[in-house]
Amino acid sequence: MTHIVPEIRIPAGGLLDWYQQSRRDLPWRQPGVTAWQILVSEFMLQQTPVARVLSIWPDWVRRWPTPSATAAASAADVLRAWGKLGYPRRAKRLHECATVIARDHGDAVPDDVDTLLRLPGVGSYTARAIACFAYRQPVPVVDTNVRRVVARAVHGRAEAGPPSATRDHADVSALLPGEEAAPQFSVALMELGAIVCTARSPRCGLCPLNECAWRHAGYPPAQGPARRVQQYAGTDRQVRGRLLDVLRAKDSPVTGAELDVAWLTDCAQRDRALDSLLADGLVTRTTDGRFALAGEG
Ligand code: SF4
Repeated sequence: MTHIVPEIRIPAGGLLDWYQQSRRDLPWRQPGVTAWQILVSEFMLQQTPVARVLSIWPDWVRRWPTPSATAAASAADVLRAWGKLGYPRRAKRLHECATVIARDHGDAVPDDVDTLLRLPGVGSYTARAIACFAYRQPVPVVDTNVRRVVARAVHGRAEAGPPSATRDHADVSALLPGEEAAPQFSVALMELGAIVCTARSPRCGLCPLNECAWRHAGYPPAQGPARRVQQYAGTDRQVRGRLLDVLRAKDSPVTGAELDVAWLTDCAQRDRALDSLLADGLVTRTTDGRFALAGEG
């Protein structure tokens, strides 16, 4: 494996001091939050802004504080509680994950990355985030924000380019301080990317890093084509959301005609969205041809 040595190191002291003073007061970072509750926050935060997760996470973990409590809920109740967070397959995977942890791991979230990676819905980032944030292990935790800070501060590039787990983990591993400080360093690096070194308008005047290769180089622009902003209006994702809204609002199966009114713009698109919800197991068809949330048919 090629080990990439960073061009500039990020000194831990200044970053950790800045984090102590400037970090957001997020509820899943409070003392006493369990590994399961951190796992729930990580599922919710995948592709979803913090503000939206803040509106759901506290009630969720009060209602279902453990894997076994979550597993005992119906898949439909979990999908309802997920509400408008988006990407509802995550809710189904979280329910499956709870079931596996309750059944196979004594209701305790595993603490090693390899076992975490075998859980439903847990990928490379999430496994390392849980090992680091819940169990204080010195593993590299690499999300979009961390990749951007490393690209700029260490490599002098405006953007991180395509992800590569091997290269990204090696990059961040090379920056981690000693084992004690590594978990705090990881969360501080992530926080820096989230609130200071943002994608569109980095606030370099507030940055705790004395050295930054990109700033030093005079902020050279990104290479390659500009990134496209993801649209939502008119996409199949929006149609799937509308169909799920109809089903969430009912506690019994609905007819195809009741679903039809959710999206009148394009019937073929509506049918395609419904087929994909059925294929994902988020929606089921009852024996009499009606539709319901998973587990309620
Ligand atoms: S100096 Fe600016 S570009 Fe460099 S890491 Fe800090 S915020 Fe990002």
